[in-house]
Amino acid sequence: MRAVVFERYGEPAEVREVPDPVPPEHGVVVRVEATGLCRSDWHGWMGHDPDITLPHVPGHELAGVIEAVGARVSGHRPGDRVTVPFVCACGRCPACAAGDQQVCERQTQPGFTHWGSFAQYVALDHADVNLIPVPPELSFATAASLGCRFATAFRAVVAQGRAAPGEWVAVHGCGGVGLSAVMIAAACGARVVAVDVSPAALDLARRFGAAECVDASAVADPAQAVRELTGGGAHLSLDALGSPGTCAASVEGLRRRGRHVQVGLLPAPDGLTPVPMARVIGLELELLGSHGMAAHAYPPLLELVRSGLLRPDLLVTSAITLDRAPSALAAMGSAPGAGVTVVEPWA
Ligand SMILES: [Zn+2]
Ligand SMILES: [Zn+2]
Repeated sequence: MRAVVFERYGEPAEVREVPDPVPPEHGVVVRVEATGLCRSDWHGWMGHDPDITLPHVPGHELAGVIEAVGARVSGHRPGDRVTVPFVCACGRCPACAAGDQQVCERQTQPGFTHWGSFAQYVALDHADVNLIPVPPELSFATAASLGCRFATAFRAVVAQGRAAPGEWVAVHGCGGVGLSAVMIAAACGARVVAVDVSPAALDLARRFGAAECVDASAVADPAQAVRELTGGGAHLSLDALGSPGTCAASVEGLRRRGRHVQVGLLPAPDGLTPVPMARVIGLELELLGSHGMAAHAYPPLLELVRSGLLRPDLLVTSAITLDRAPSALAAMGSAPGAGVTVVEPWA
């Protein structure tokens, strides 16, 4: 098969022929029809993820058709249209037993712990725990956009963030996950303040339901701008980029008893970042994380997509071939572009 491979961190990846994967005993091989290009792939390529061994194939936001199944898979067959959360759970550890597959103790992640989906085929483990059927009315490109950023945003806003109608929700960083969060928070009936340095990203945020926008490149203090627009601060705020600046701004833009959800990965491998803890204490703020979403939590999300209330398809702004993926991956660090790019390995 053809795949995007890199041999060294931060040096150009290339498309080459590699052996086809074989399904694990409990897993499947999926023919990849679409796979999203995400900032997490860029972090992996830069060497920010300790799970990656070289040479490596990135890619973790995929949808496609089952090509082959392992001997001990019971619920899926070749030909099924499927997607997966980027956290593939083991199904047996205490976290999985509690229904928290998104923080599984023995999780695998395509494109991180093993070769991913910037390839014509990808192997996925524990298929009966992790595979999500893709309804026929959902395109592969849209389904691919759900597995990481949209589902993570959904869990961050709805489950972790507990967004409620009428509340102010600030979203710092309007890339794929941030725009997803804007759309989901607006669908929850919240009033959304979108913050980004890119006018194009803010235009999309407005289109997806943001009531207010803050151009962080044009104001001295984005957190103060959020506090002024929201009459004292947001009830819920997300760092959807993952940087020391956006994390601190998200916390500083909250009102009393507000909730901060860290969604974007921080560039340091250990995730260390300065947080204004005096404000956390004095205002009794909550600090939360969000790490994807378990496969069993997808049906309500898929129903909202099917009904048209959520439109992840609108986030997909470009589709590229495998051959263009290496340069697009490198560009995610500096010029990620507005919206979500999907790679179509068979195009
Ligand atoms: Zn991702
Ligand atoms: Zn587990």
